Amino acid sequence: MLVSIVGAGPGDPELITVKGQNLLKRADVIIYAGSLVNPSLLEFAKNGCAVYNSASMTLPEVIDVIVKAVAEGKRVVRLHTGDPAIYGAIQEQMDELKKHNIEYEVIPGVSSFLATAAALKQEYTLPGVSQTVIITRNEGRTPVPSRESLRALAAHQSTMCIFLSVHMLQQVVDELIAGGYDKTTPIAIVQKASWPEQKIVRATLETICEEIKDKDISRTAMIVVSKVLDNDYELSRLYAPEFSHGYRKGSEA
Ligand code: SAH
Repeated sequence: MLVSIVGAGPGDPELITVKGQNLLKRADVIIYAGSLVNPSLLEFAKNGCAVYNSASMTLPEVIDVIVKAVAEGKRVVRLHTGDPAIYGAIQEQMDELKKHNIEYEVIPGVSSFLATAAALKQEYTLPGVSQTVIITRNEGRTPVPSRESLRALAAHQSTMCIFLSVHMLQQVVDELIAGGYDKTTPIAIVQKASWPEQKIVRATLETICEEIKDKDISRTAMIVVSKVLDNDYELSRLYAPEFSHGYRKGSEA
């Protein structure tokens, strides 16, 4: 396969998959999303590899680079931050590649919402608290269908991971409270999870805007809202001594 769309992971260069790293090492052309991908991943590139930063390119320009490279039999890696399937704008690239009859593969990556859980040392799915994770964003220049507004999604009181929205934090908080979250619901904001400069701010919906004021956090941050952050939950059934399952006979069996 000459074209690989690769998830770079959330920042730490060791959090790319082995497969992704091997493809970077073999690539003749790398096009990376410069606004978020850690440039130190480019150190895996071999000598003579052509490197393009897509931050300053349009979709036709990106496709043009890929089409020309493939025509010359070159291996191309299109490197996207986190996992390419989440706010990666890859669908339009894949559709263009199909139009040019270019085959491609997609290599998943560690999404930033999972690097955020790791930074917080937090499970998102606690029994009796929340068994659902909602991945979403506030409406910005990209429209969000109204049935998926933060206010509507808040009704579920699930764990919510809110991307691309920290610069609109007050609006996010207002919508979540209007949708039904209690003002005392815990919220955590993680900026640049897994990068050396990672920052974590914890507060409640009521206090977060004040709390974050002097922290210089305006982009590349994940907002997590959930009662799971309270650490008050039921123990999982999976490891309960009396609980039997396919791999273990419990004490009550
Ligand atoms: N495909 C990416 C998301 C791209 S959208 C993924 O799977 O993570 C860009 C948004 O992702 C940012 O606005 C921010 O909300 C989030 N993000 C990306 N990297 C992050 C990181 N290291 N820490 C926290 N949030 C991050």
